Amino acid sequence: MSDVIKLLPDSVANQIAAGEVIQRPASAVKEILENSIDAGATQIKLIVKDAGRTLIQVADNGKGMSETDARMCFERHATSKINQASDLFSIRTMGFRGEALASIAAIARVELKTRTSDATLGTEVIIEGSVTESQQPCQSPTGTSIAVKNLFFNTPARRNFLKSDTIEKGHIFNELIRVAMAYPHIGFMYYQNGQLTHQFEKSNLKQRIVNIFGQAYNQRLVPVEEKTEIVSITGFVLKPEFSKKKRGEQFFFVNHRFIRSSYLNHAVDQAFQELIPEDLFPSFFLFLETDPGQIDVNVHPTKTEIKFQDERYIYQVLKSAVKRALGRYNITPTLDFERETAFDDLTTEKGKPVQPPGIFINPEYNPFETSRPASRPSANLTSRINPSQWEKLFPGEKDLPSQTLSPERRPAGPVQTTLTPDWEVSAVESGPKKPLHLHQRFILAPVKSGLIVIDHQRAHERILFERFLKIFETQKAASQHLLFPENICLSENDGDLLKDMLTEMQALGFVIDTMGKNTFVISAVPADIGENENLQTLVEGILENFRLNKVEFRLDTHTNLARALARRLSLKHGKSMNEEEMIALTDSLFACEMPYQSPAGKPTLTIIHLSDLADRFK
Ligand code: ADP
Ligand code: MG
Repeated sequence: MSDVIKLLPDSVANQIAAGEVIQRPASAVKEILENSIDAGATQIKLIVKDAGRTLIQVADNGKGMSETDARMCFERHATSKINQASDLFSIRTMGFRGEALASIAAIARVELKTRTSDATLGTEVIIEGSVTESQQPCQSPTGTSIAVKNLFFNTPARRNFLKSDTIEKGHIFNELIRVAMAYPHIGFMYYQNGQLTHQFEKSNLKQRIVNIFGQAYNQRLVPVEEKTEIVSITGFVLKPEFSKKKRGEQFFFVNHRFIRSSYLNHAVDQAFQELIPEDLFPSFFLFLETDPGQIDVNVHPTKTEIKFQDERYIYQVLKSAVKRALGRYNITPTLDFERETAFDDLTTEKGKPVQPPGIFINPEYNPFETSRPASRPSANLTSRINPSQWEKLFPGEKDLPSQTLSPERRPAGPVQTTLTPDWEVSAVESGPKKPLHLHQRFILAPVKSGLIVIDHQRAHERILFERFLKIFETQKAASQHLLFPENICLSENDGDLLKDMLTEMQALGFVIDTMGKNTFVISAVPADIGENENLQTLVEGILENFRLNKVEFRLDTHTNLARALARRLSLKHGKSMNEEEMIALTDSLFACEMPYQSPAGKPTLTIIHLSDLADRFK
């Protein structure tokens, strides 16, 4: 039998390889953008026509290529980025396989123009389906322009596999913003079908994110910073209240390379645990820098997956970095959307490290898992529960072992079980613990791990907020009829808004009738509203808060109204509370689904650990 094995011609081999590297126009965009970055460009122009089907062009002001390199760059395994095998372990460039241009040239027509700064003339190379059509000197600015035309012209299967223009354009934009985020100091211009649609000026990371995602992000970003010997982590997470229903804006970059990692995702999810409901996902833009020797980027041809040498270590550092960032933000909020700020003067001393409340949170805490009845206690501040019960929320340790943090073990809903013995710190042992009201603002009480400090107004807001939401959900409002119905007269704007919201207001327990243009008669109010409340200002206040939330957070009507009303009715700072009320408030707080944050996302409580106190006496 004769020999049957033949070497494939380069053009066929390239076409096969292309299938791996270039799946769609966006992959070509990614590769050529990365080449421009590797070439040290500071300005990059991306020009796309027909979602990349007919043209993808990238022009940069990088270092350009010599005449020989301009021809060589289309050869398979032609790269200027590695010389020897050991270089593979210290890669700092985006590319290194020398595959991209060869692959693209195998399945498209490519027109390259390039010039180095020391040459007077540049070089133009035209290549189609791996066949060089021409190479000649040309006029060119310093840098490189690569135009990829008629991608997949000779691979109809690939071409037919492409999705709609909208989808392909979406992929291209995603690649562009990933690169743009990783290199904020590089300016980008993006043209689609002849029009400049996006321009990202040179800037810093925060500004770049804001450029990409919109001005509102300026207020939403919480900086993350952590540095250890092995890894440095920088970037931003979005404040918990801006979490999304989808895993949309989640960006990890390792050594400036966008990567996906469900493992790292999990670390961030863990850091957000307790701060956001389980069906929402945090948004983040996180940059990990590590010695290239610590990672293997070679595991995936398109390089969006990497392997760390010490994954578990990175996981821990990442988790605590995010937790700490959230904690810092919780204590010194920058966002000031709350109107009644008269008492909001709680600032930490500059430069002092702040203990993140996140770290104290016991992830296994289940608000329903108590010896109390499963029904939510009222916030009318009268029921009496032993404060020693709070202990169960805070076992003595600062950080729990990570295996207890698996999401499967998070409480799914109301479950009735008894407490595990370790958690029960009996009041008998240490005597009953009395809470103390400090400056008519903070409730202080000893717990096993130290001292719990609760902001009474925020706590009360949280309690009321969840109660109002529940009312919407169950449609069971408790209303009290007024002996004398009250007339209120609103501005035109407020009047219109109230008319729009009448159904929701009724659902909460208001009975309101319209009387003339902007006059209303209120004949019943929710049970939580005190007798002495001025209804005119109350309604105006609700409407004002509602409008504010709507603009700033685009909350749905129910959440917004619950939040506005909770804000209005909460027990304000400066009001005194007796022991019984403090205990009831605390207890109701921990019966909430999210006791640790006010509806506006600010912390309701913090714990001062014994060890921290002890440190102060060193
Ligand atoms: P890789 O990036 O893995 O080295 P490519 O096929 O993407 O492989 O590119 C091959 C080579 O062509 C690069 O190593 C580089 O030397 C050169 N090159 C490609 N694009 C540019 C550019 N925009 N500016 C300068 N040189 C470039
Ligand atoms: Mg490359």
